[in-house]
Amino acid sequence: MTIHLETDVLIIGGGMAAGWAAIAAAQAGARVIVADKGYMGTSGVTAMGGPNHWWVAPDKSLREEAIARQSAKAQGLGDPDWMARILDLTWRYLPSLAPHYPFGSDGAGGTYYSGVRGSEYMRALRAAALEAGAQILDHHPAIELLRDAEGRIAGARGHALRHKQDWEIRSKTTILATGGNAFRSGLIGSHTNTGDGQLMAAEAGVALSGMEFGPSWSISPAWASTRTLPYTGAIYYDAGGRELDIPPIYAGHAHNRALGHAMLDEPVLADLSQAPQALRPILRRIQPFTPAPFERRGVDIFRDRFPVKLFGEGTIRGTGGLDLADAECRTSAPGLFAIGDAATREWVAGANSGGGAVNSAWALSSGRIAGAAAAHESLARRDGAPAPARGIGRVGITPEQAERAIDSTAIYREVDHQIHGYAHVFSRDEASYATSADELAGLWRELASHGRAQGASLVGLRETAALVAGARWTLAAAQARKESRGLHHRADFPEANASLAHRQRVSGLDAIRTHAQQAEFA
Ligand SMILES: Cc1cc2nc3c(=O)[nH]c(=O)nc-3n(C[C@H](O)[C@H](O)[C@H](O)COP(=O)(O)OP(=O)(O)OC[C@H]3O[C@@H](n4cnc5c(N)ncnc54)[C@H](O)[C@@H]3O)c2cc1C
Repeated sequence: MTIHLETDVLIIGGGMAAGWAAIAAAQAGARVIVADKGYMGTSGVTAMGGPNHWWVAPDKSLREEAIARQSAKAQGLGDPDWMARILDLTWRYLPSLAPHYPFGSDGAGGTYYSGVRGSEYMRALRAAALEAGAQILDHHPAIELLRDAEGRIAGARGHALRHKQDWEIRSKTTILATGGNAFRSGLIGSHTNTGDGQLMAAEAGVALSGMEFGPSWSISPAWASTRTLPYTGAIYYDAGGRELDIPPIYAGHAHNRALGHAMLDEPVLADLSQAPQALRPILRRIQPFTPAPFERRGVDIFRDRFPVKLFGEGTIRGTGGLDLADAECRTSAPGLFAIGDAATREWVAGANSGGGAVNSAWALSSGRIAGAAAAHESLARRDGAPAPARGIGRVGITPEQAERAIDSTAIYREVDHQIHGYAHVFSRDEASYATSADELAGLWRELASHGRAQGASLVGLRETAALVAGARWTLAAAQARKESRGLHHRADFPEANASLAHRQRVSGLDAIRTHAQQAEFA
């Protein structure tokens, strides 16, 4: 039996962006339901990390300087007005979590707000969302969006994993907060980040933007994925003890390429004995999950050499995501909003990664903006019973044939290889993109002709489809951008081309299309 619910604002996803959106929407007087695939508080990539927020005091010249620096990093694709907006919202709203989060001292008599422990931060957001009146449904992955006869997105359908029951939630507005797509690389905290929201939105005709700017990478111990923080002063060695010539971590692509190529040949060992002294006593406080894998192995992180791996982050700390149609985070599908890593972050990160500070400020701010806007739009439409609506999902839902088994694990591996395989991703050219595109098109055809699935197996099938669709958009966008800019590097076009300093959309499921866009928000 299907569980039927009704609300003003439905938020799909339960990470950082969802938390801020739920608080804003509930405070604006809307009834709010958050449906998360995992448990809101522990799922998503914030929960396992120590996110730092872009944090600049409201001093005119400090803010102008910060925006100028960030605009240079954005390489022609950022928007100073958006940057100013997220600086302002982050400064005003992050401290509002104080009743639920124990902000520490800044060592100078004030409070330290910008860097938080992810697990406690997410627990605080959950508590604040509940206190504001939101209802949270854990282990309730969304599967497809609903659309009414007017063409508005009118809620979603999903499956309650614990109850083994389908659910249908009718809503006046829907916010996609499903995070980025880590392509099942094994990156800590990213298991549920399979790009489902992007697949659902694409089925509603929404395009994506900036998908070519990625992937980004985390360097971690080879046996466990944890965060990058301690690697600033790392020296790398091969298995025979020879020091490797690896450019420093801030060299970005050159650093990752050198490490990736070295790792193809043999294990690479990191030596963190030169890491900043100041980091040692505070590492556990900032990133509580980082020391544990070392302690379990009896490895002294700042003394012993240990093998490392690059974990691909896909579009997380990459830049791309759902294209936004206005400054309140609406998409082109009426009634549908996108926030956090599910949306493009080009407005504030441009062609480069927003990791390190800007992405968290974006997740907070886009959540606040969309939450308030969705609440107002929903309250204006509160009168009247919901119009009939139907699901618009395709893979695994139509055509209605009998269920047929597919090897999801093999597909995950292939997708991860195409997006993150060290052998080809650091020296991409036209031929390499074409080969990857063909492989992925074959996987998509297999999925698109798959018959109907149900319950948990439908959830898994939809995740697999979202991984493949996300990989296809990523590679099509990268193939179409014939230059190197920010996170996007091509061996055959190694320089930026001034005539290509514009954003690019990618859309479609069976046939993928790309097109350049100069347009600002309407
Ligand atoms: C190693 C690393 C370090 C980082 N450090 C920083 C930093 O210091 N500063 C910074 O600014 N940024 C940092 N980031 C980026 C930052 O963590 C993200 O930008 C932020 O977490 C985005 O929040 P989100 O809510 O959009 O996504 P997430 O926090 O990933 O949440 C997504 C949620 O959606 C849920 N979901 C997915 N699919 C479905 C579905 N079908 N139905 C229901 N729910 C679904 C997931 O379960 C999850 O709970 C870092 C990222 C990484 C990987």
